[in-house]
Amino acid sequence: MSSDSGDEILEFQLQIRVGSEVLETRGQVRDGPLTVREFLPVLQTVTNGIVTSLSRQAEEAGKLISCKAGCGACCCQPVPIGDAEALMLIQLVDGMPEERRAAIRARFAAALSRLEEAGLLEKVRAFPALPSQEDREKLALAYLALRIACPFLEDDSCSIHPDRPLSCREYLVTSPAEFCSNPDRERIAMVDVPRRLSALMVREMTPWLPLILAFEAAERLRACPEPKFPAKELVEKVVRYLGGPAAPAS
Ligand code: SF4
Repeated sequence: MSSDSGDEILEFQLQIRVGSEVLETRGQVRDGPLTVREFLPVLQTVTNGIVTSLSRQAEEAGKLISCKAGCGACCCQPVPIGDAEALMLIQLVDGMPEERRAAIRARFAAALSRLEEAGLLEKVRAFPALPSQEDREKLALAYLALRIACPFLEDDSCSIHPDRPLSCREYLVTSPAEFCSNPDRERIAMVDVPRRLSALMVREMTPWLPLILAFEAAERLRACPEPKFPAKELVEKVVRYLGGPAAPAS
């Protein structure tokens, strides 16, 4: 199939089991070598389908999802994002009106100052290289205790909701919202998302970094050529991952 621009288009259809439902998703991408950033809309669409289905099933089982506009209690965590998502967010902010762009950039800078004052900045920079889940969990709790809101959080809502990272989309809480702001995570109940495309993305498509470092890394990210993959290969990775056995928790 060809598009108006003359590019060949790859159409695909996914049929995946999500809990007790079978989810069908159709989509299309330009059929050529694609950067992960160009492939992000597919990952976002499929993730949206998965979390909508899981939310519905949780609510049918009597577990109400606490996450909603006006509650940003969980947005004080070190959110992992792929380099491709960081580039997309940088581009998004670059395209905003000057006043808004300056406000968001200032929040990122203030957050880095807070981390530095607390002696955590170097540790957060080393986050992706931490060897164990235990180390990552410890750092995440220390970060959460600082209550540094994500620079995109405005009036307790995500100001970039349609463009938010995959890991934000996959975070669905069923325990009372007030528990989310407490570093004692034992009390937080979440919807199990057994196959997270955020995990697939950072394992097989792009390195990752904490969202809060996106602008600090902007120069490096812009300077590195973005790797490209055949569109078919990217779609197949998603199909294989979602169709195979549940992935181990990362
Ligand atoms: S991007 Fe949006 S949803 Fe994700 S942490 Fe930031 S404000 Fe919250």
